[in-house]
Amino acid sequence: MTITTRFAPSPTGRLHVGNIRTALHNWLLAKQAGGRFLLRIDDTDRERSREEFVAAIREDLAWLGLNPDGEERQSAHFDAYENAFGQLASAGRVYPCYETPQELELRRKVLLGRGLPPIYDRGALGLTAEERAQKQAAGEQPHWRFKLDHDSAIEWTDGIRGPQHFDPGQLSDPVIRRADGSWLYMLPSVVDDVAMGVTDVLRGEDHVSNTATQVQMFHALGAEPPHFAHEALLVGTEGKLSKRLGSMSVSDFREAGIEPEALVALLARLGTSDPVDPSLDAEALAASFDLARFGRAPARFDEAELERLNAAVVHQLPYADVAGRLPEGMGEDGWDAIRPNLSHVGEAGEWWQVVTGPVDAPRLDDDARAYLAQAAEVLAGQEWGGDPWHALTGALKEATGRKGKALFMPLRQALTGRDHGPDMAALLPLIGRDAALERLQRAASV
Ligand code: GLU
Repeated sequence: MTITTRFAPSPTGRLHVGNIRTALHNWLLAKQAGGRFLLRIDDTDRERSREEFVAAIREDLAWLGLNPDGEERQSAHFDAYENAFGQLASAGRVYPCYETPQELELRRKVLLGRGLPPIYDRGALGLTAEERAQKQAAGEQPHWRFKLDHDSAIEWTDGIRGPQHFDPGQLSDPVIRRADGSWLYMLPSVVDDVAMGVTDVLRGEDHVSNTATQVQMFHALGAEPPHFAHEALLVGTEGKLSKRLGSMSVSDFREAGIEPEALVALLARLGTSDPVDPSLDAEALAASFDLARFGRAPARFDEAELERLNAAVVHQLPYADVAGRLPEGMGEDGWDAIRPNLSHVGEAGEWWQVVTGPVDAPRLDDDARAYLAQAAEVLAGQEWGGDPWHALTGALKEATGRKGKALFMPLRQALTGRDHGPDMAALLPLIGRDAALERLQRAASV
């Protein structure tokens, strides 16, 4: 059977780092098995769902390279939810409830106060047909709960957490439909997972108790539940995800100069003890993706590590991938020369300006100025070949006896206005003969 996974965001905001991890892992799980990765837009909440967020989700996934093999929208499936609801009603698996939120809250508090788990007491199941009719006549609209089967234990083998066992008597019957007829997340998700042929549900561990009740919903609808796996929470280096990091969206990462490859490389391995390898492309990451490698301890997201990875990724990016983001006039030679010095592609402009000039002439001591005057003369007398830097420094070494820093540093300072930077052998051909001569002469004379 082909594996089908899905990523099911609610379009009520931008995707943040936790969502991205879930999306990526579902993509990897599907790709590894040659299966399908589907996008499901969970937009049953019509008030909070916004079209601009749907567009942003698609854009963010595309930027990350996680292209779905299909897309579904819950708002197009209301008929299917109605059918399923009818099916559950005929089987006696849903029941109307009339408690107000205040009543429920009060009961919760009483139970908690007595040290008991705040499980819904099924008060509404005790209503007689007459009492219901009265409430109906008085215009009270019920909300609806799914009736858990207390006689069948809930069990599944979780792809990350191992064997799971829940006593349904220790769970509240979940509310699946509001008094205004609108749907909560629980039932539509099950109906869609069946309809979409989802074989593997991989999501955060905050969904474990939802899974427990959903397992019974699958059975109640005559379907086999998919495989479930629940990932440990994502935390920052301080033990919890900072507010800023937790809410950082894909576009924030992009604007901060983070490459999708860096984010993907890090998030693919986060939660495992496997090393993060920036040289692996998404296909290679998929090939080695293994749920069994994920532990139950919280996964630490370290921004410093993301920055290091980003630099490593930038150092490998081919010119064709970045050409559109480089300063005007900067070609492949320029990119190859400057790339090793960048942490972010956006810094290329700064170094390109060192090539195109003008550069600030450094204030050097008499000895260095005399040396630069000599360098200008040597350069003027030389042919400008394929490797002008080694030709120049070779000749100067011979003529002056200088070596190491004394040989190279004044030249670098005069030619770039800085003490460090890209390899001079790669930079000098880009600076060109005339500009190089002019810079040496100027630094010799200030
Ligand atoms: N829309 C749900 C969420 O974002 C989907 C959960 C699921 O994967 O079933 O939490």
